Amino acid sequence: MPVSGKLTVVGVGPGPEDWITPATAATLAEADELFGYGPYLSRLPGRLGQIRHASDNREEMLRARQALAAAQAGRLVAVVSGGDPGVFAMAAAVCEAIETGPEAWRALDVAFEPGVTAMLAAASRVGAPLGADFAVISLSDNLKPWPLIERRLKLTSEADLVLALYNPASRARGQGADAAFAVLKSCRPLSVPVVLASAVGRPDERIVFKQLGDCDGAGIDMRTLIIVGASATRLIERPGRSPLVYTERFARSP
Ligand code: SAH
Repeated sequence: MPVSGKLTVVGVGPGPEDWITPATAATLAEADELFGYGPYLSRLPGRLGQIRHASDNREEMLRARQALAAAQAGRLVAVVSGGDPGVFAMAAAVCEAIETGPEAWRALDVAFEPGVTAMLAAASRVGAPLGADFAVISLSDNLKPWPLIERRLKLTSEADLVLALYNPASRARGQGADAAFAVLKSCRPLSVPVVLASAVGRPDERIVFKQLGDCDGAGIDMRTLIIVGASATRLIERPGRSPLVYTERFARSP
């Protein structure tokens, strides 16, 4: 009977090492084996004797099963996501693998560490766009049909929620942002502020301020997080500094 190991799902934040929480850094330092998308693993400092299993971003279920099998074999395992592991990332794949996998996996010691997700990093660059009620949608139609995304864009607009949009250019679709903006223009004021935050925390970070009416897919790629304002979202111009975007904390009755 092998000694039971442990699997911890961690997120390494959107960019710099100082956005990795101390708890995640400790998990990474202790792990015998790391499983994750190659570019995330290559950003991490290594430890002698630690094994790294780099895989492609499309192989999430396979990676989750291999990691669970390693934990079952008695290893200390860390599954590594970018940002927060629970936001469109590996934590859900690990849960799905446990639900559909061998009974023994349900008895494993499994933990999840929070991380800095891209929308929080992007919001911090511009002020407080998420300072009042907001919704989060992935524009990737790899795992869900486009009409469902469109419906969610419309309903969250009807509810006048600020939107944080992940995965604006999924590989399967090519360019989801173009289609999303077309929907949003039909159901939100064209004057609401939009923030396009690309590669936040990386050397090539780029923050672009627009109004919804001027938005299309230009300049948006897989490393862009889009924040679309609600009617209570304001842009404050500042002399010699980039604008602030925030959402008023007070809301009126509908
Ligand atoms: N788990 C991750 C999200 C994975 S989905 C998290 O919590 O951040 C991948 C999407 O996240 C990208 O398409 C992009 O929309 C967003 N993203 C990830 N890193 C980013 C960064 N440094 N800057 C801007 N957006 C980022």
